[in-house]
Amino acid sequence: MAISRRNFIENNGATCNNWRSSWSFVNHNEKRVIFGAWEVEKDGSLSRILATDWQFDKIGRTKSAYNQALEHIRLVKDEDYQLMTFPIKHADPVPVQTSIGKFVPELTSKTLKQIDGDWFALDSSVSDPTNNFDEYIRRSNVVRHLNEGRKNTPKPKGSIKPDKTFTTTTSYYRDPEVRAWVLFENDGACEACDNKAPFTTTDGSPFLEVHHLVRLADGGPDVVDNAIAVCPNCHRRLHYSSDRNTYLDKIYAKNSRLKRH
Ligand SMILES: [Zn+2]
Ligand SMILES: [Zn+2]
Repeated sequence: MAISRRNFIENNGATCNNWRSSWSFVNHNEKRVIFGAWEVEKDGSLSRILATDWQFDKIGRTKSAYNQALEHIRLVKDEDYQLMTFPIKHADPVPVQTSIGKFVPELTSKTLKQIDGDWFALDSSVSDPTNNFDEYIRRSNVVRHLNEGRKNTPKPKGSIKPDKTFTTTTSYYRDPEVRAWVLFENDGACEACDNKAPFTTTDGSPFLEVHHLVRLADGGPDVVDNAIAVCPNCHRRLHYSSDRNTYLDKIYAKNSRLKRH
């Protein structure tokens, strides 16, 4: 038998001021706030937990639930309460009101986010700090996409003293002769775009970076026919751009030194 919403919440040690109209709940012992959350992004990464227009209800009933929700948001914002949500299914058609329909009795830890004055719960897997650089880029791109076209996105708190971790990484012995040789090949110009190096380093040489066409981590060799000297822009383009494969093809095509590995 399906569990009732009240049982579900009480099993999690939380309570509210009105079991009919509340969609947010609090557990002071564990400093935890639970919100029923309306899906915004299909993948569940973003859900709406409070909209400013929800305070006006035809029969005035949600007014106290709305004020309660505001207080619960304050607890998360100012008192370090943890935000958890459970999904609430939309009735058809999608209500703008907080009419509470079916719910899924599953709690997920979320990060509070304010967008355009409304309050959202964002998957912690998107907004948690990470020590994996590629993951850091991926997460910030998800958030950037969510912020797109929105004004007055509040400044994120960030971290005064970021956590650190010690990790084991695999690194490869790279041959300085190979790097030195490649850097000379195009007279200090980028081998991708042929522009001059953007600046000179402290030792007077043009600044270029050496990029391995097939990365060493992917089994590529550390040899001159798998390495090119590129300007920082082209280097980033080769790693991150949407056209990186066609750009790479162009580089292979115009430079007879290079071999596909
Ligand atoms: Zn370049
Ligand atoms: Zn590279």
